[in-house]
Parts: sequence; structure tokens; C-alpha cells
Amino acid sequence: MKKEVPVRIAYNARGKQFYMQIRKPVFIMNSASVTKNEHSAVMSGVKTILKIIGLEKEIQINDLGCWNQGSGEHESIDWYLAEAQVKTANGCQIYDDDLLKLYRKSPLTKNLLHFVVMIIDKDLTSKRDDGAWYNFVIGDSFPDIGVVLSVKRFRGLSDSQKQEECIKTLVMHELGHVFLAASGRNGIDALSDQSNSSVLYKDHCDQECVMRQGGRVPDAWEKLSEDRLKSGKPFCKKCIDEMKRYIK
Ligand SMILES: [Zn+2]
Ligand SMILES: [Zn+2]
Repeated sequence: MKKEVPVRIAYNARGKQFYMQIRKPVFIMNSASVTKNEHSAVMSGVKTILKIIGLEKEIQINDLGCWNQGSGEHESIDWYLAEAQVKTANGCQIYDDDLLKLYRKSPLTKNLLHFVVMIIDKDLTSKRDDGAWYNFVIGDSFPDIGVVLSVKRFRGLSDSQKQEECIKTLVMHELGHVFLAASGRNGIDALSDQSNSSVLYKDHCDQECVMRQGGRVPDAWEKLSEDRLKSGKPFCKKCIDEMKRYIK
């Protein structure tokens, strides 16, 4: 019997409805100077979240490494990085929106629908609602495309174990957004107290969970990772239920 492929209704930037397949393989690719350990941390995070939502057998992981099929358009991760490069007050950075939007036209996407996990070691940035640049961001996610993660800001941590745990936390957090964990909820920052948090973050969690916001880098991500390792539970029950409901 043929299994039905679950689809969800999504909206593009112009508000137009489209159907989105949500059980797709995950393609992992990294820029050239991402280390083996950084890459393994991402792989471990991807496997963990898929296991938590019960799809570790169903969703395949395809590791493309430093993807490079040529020097033309859409043929290598380097091409995407060069296209999405911007000059800001903080130097040369990669604009997350441009990068993920460009990837929509990837030939890999035409061949096989998938989620991409791009691991880069260049600094990543994003625009605020008022159009000004953030100093930097460490990751971003588009529910129909996947995620981009920058490991750069964790390299300042002297403890390599900590770096890797933070990267693992980050990939679970960003993929959590892809699977709509905490979507529509008001969350707190990992460094703020649950009982007296005055600032709330949309689409984030207020429980002891990797879906809390991590505003201060790397401190908040160290805290998220410590909590995750202490409890042995990356996600709270609420977030797991939301993800399972979404990918069901
Ligand atoms: Zn987030
Ligand atoms: Zn949660």
C-alpha cells in the first residue's frame, strides 16, 4: 500500500498559499573550513531530534560534505556564500535570508525535495524588522527549506567539548523551528528567570528546553547545553508534542 506523503499548507512572502511536503530527507553540507568535530556535532544533533520525534528511520540523512559540483551558479556551497555575502559595519558577513532564499532554486532541490542543513564558519547576519542589520546571528531557519548554522561565534570557547555541545544545541533549536516547536508561543531567554522574565520572544519556549531564546552568544547557548545535558532532555514535552503533531 502506498503511504500518503504528509503535506502542510504554507505561505510564501507574498502571502500565496502552497503545499509543503514535511517528511523530507535532510541534506547536510558544510563550507570548507568547518572542522570534522563541528560537522559531527551537527550530525549528532540532527540524529537526536529525528529520534525524539520518532522519524529517525523514516527521514534519511544525506551527508554531502563540502558540496561542490563545479564553479557555476548553484553548483557549490561556496557559490551560495559568495552570493549572500554583505558588507556591514561588522565586516564581511553572510545574509541569512539571501542564502536560504537562493537555496530554494538549488538543482538539488529540483532533483529531490529535502531540508538543507548548511554549516558555515563565516559570520552570519540578519535584518531587524526596521531594516537595520543585527550585529550577527548564529542560525536561521525557513520551514520549507531548512537551516543555516554558523559555528564561528562558538570558536571563541576554549573548551572544544563545550563548542560541540553548543553546536548540537543550535542545530536542534533551528530544526525545532522547522518542525514548528513553540510556534506562536511566547518564550523566554535561556539566561532569564522563568518567574520574572519581562521580555518575551515569539515562537520560543518558556520551559527548560532548547527552544528558549539564546540572545547572548555564547553564554545563553552554554546554558541551554548545560540544561540539556543535565536533564537528558533537549526538548520539553510541549515542544515534542507540537513537532509530532506537525510532522504526523
Ligand atoms: Zn530561535
Ligand atoms: Zn519547549
